[in-house]
Amino acid sequence: MPEDKKVKKPLGVARPVEGRCIACGSRCLTVCPRHAVGITDQGVPLVDIARCTGCRRCVKICPAQALEIYYTPEQLKLIDELAALGQKADLQEADEEAITAGNGLYRGVWVFVEQTDGIPAAVSWELLGVGQTLAKQLKVELCAVVIGEKVEAICKDAFAYGASRVYLVDGTVYRYYRTEPYFKALCYLANEYRPEIVLIGATGVGRDLAGAVATELRTGLTADCTGLAVDDERRLLMQTRPAFGGNIMATIVTEKSWPQMATVRPHTMHMHEKDDSRNGEIVREWLDIKEDEVATKVIEIIDRRTGHEVDITAADIIVSGGRGLQSVENFKLLQDLADELGGVVACSRSAVDAGWMPSERQVGQTGKTVRPKIYIACGISGAIQHIVGMQNSDIIIAINRDRNAPIFEVAHYGLVGDLSRIVPSLTRQIKALRAGSKN
Ligand SMILES: Cc1cc2nc3c(=O)[nH]c(=O)nc-3n(C[C@H](O)[C@H](O)[C@H](O)COP(=O)(O)OP(=O)(O)OC[C@H]3O[C@@H](n4cnc5c(N)ncnc54)[C@H](O)[C@@H]3O)c2cc1C
Repeated sequence: MPEDKKVKKPLGVARPVEGRCIACGSRCLTVCPRHAVGITDQGVPLVDIARCTGCRRCVKICPAQALEIYYTPEQLKLIDELAALGQKADLQEADEEAITAGNGLYRGVWVFVEQTDGIPAAVSWELLGVGQTLAKQLKVELCAVVIGEKVEAICKDAFAYGASRVYLVDGTVYRYYRTEPYFKALCYLANEYRPEIVLIGATGVGRDLAGAVATELRTGLTADCTGLAVDDERRLLMQTRPAFGGNIMATIVTEKSWPQMATVRPHTMHMHEKDDSRNGEIVREWLDIKEDEVATKVIEIIDRRTGHEVDITAADIIVSGGRGLQSVENFKLLQDLADELGGVVACSRSAVDAGWMPSERQVGQTGKTVRPKIYIACGISGAIQHIVGMQNSDIIIAINRDRNAPIFEVAHYGLVGDLSRIVPSLTRQIKALRAGSKN
């Protein structure tokens, strides 16, 4: 018997009691947070003990006492020993313990580190930034998951951005992202180590992976979150994202299944400073997935980018235009200002819909999320669908002739007036200032 009084009371697993089930309508199935209970063709409950965490929900809900908690002889011995030690093996207490999220069952905040050809996606480090805050609040470890071929070097970066442990799955089958091997690897890790929160970047890869993993783990997934926080009392992840066409911001919780999973759009979260002196533990895992078993084959990678595209998400200064520009010609005014400032031109959806700008320049819910040092919104009213894409910019300057335009609610500086006069005037003054500083 271990002397340590903090030894955990065994929780046991649920098992059916023969002949009791009255086929009441699958209540046990629906309450199980781990989807460990099934029903046979004969209508008798069946428990997958590999999934069961002994939470007792199915036992409690059954009106016919057709399920009970089973303990192995070793567990019963331990319960007796604990009782003898004065630690009452109160199963009621164990009930609460098992039902409360993360109480020994699910622990830790995980971030999936996306990489292509060994180059990590920046969104992964942004997620480690917010992950640090969440892990600190929950008093748990922040871990990263790295999957790929010859990607061990990425673990060091993950430590530098805040992870204290990295789960590494490295092998040739993970050379290119394909749903099957990646989701199997992540599900395996999640089942083995049971994190309470898993965060994934809302990129093409991340969206595909997160959906597959959440489906396999039978847990909830909130896509495209713009805000994350923790409900201290219930240890629940508060996942905020635009809902109902972006007209409201909804905060969503996954309260009955774990892990709680969310995808987060790039540039939404603040990336913490890299600290190369940080270190941590690498946990190497290996799965027996053979190339022959993977249906998808990568035959050729075709990159259609010409190299001339403007990446608005990487720009430090953005001059953005909306319907208030009134014509494609007026975007020249914005380009002149952007050139003077060393920035790029972006736009609202109205400008794209009007055919004035290409869709890759659109900022907002259905466009890109940007986080520049300066965002100048010209003739943009400030609809919530636009705001969610630029609200985290360091400095927001709004130019609008309507002093009541909602854009002024998020702007740090506001200019009320006609943009066709204000923008050229700003360009001239900046030009003059720069010319002055050169002389
Ligand atoms: C599901 C969904 C997704 C969406 N996704 C996006 C998205 O990703 N991005 C996005 O931007 N929108 C998105 N929208 C559209 C969004 O709701 C707004 O319709 C859009 O942002 C409005 O664009 P705007 O501000 O350019 O135009 P308006 O709302 O028409 O505003 C034009 C502004 O220009 C000002 N103005 C006019 N003339 C001048 C002038 N001469 N000088 C100064 N100011 C002037 C006006 O006062 C007004 O405030 C989405 C909508 C839905 C339903």
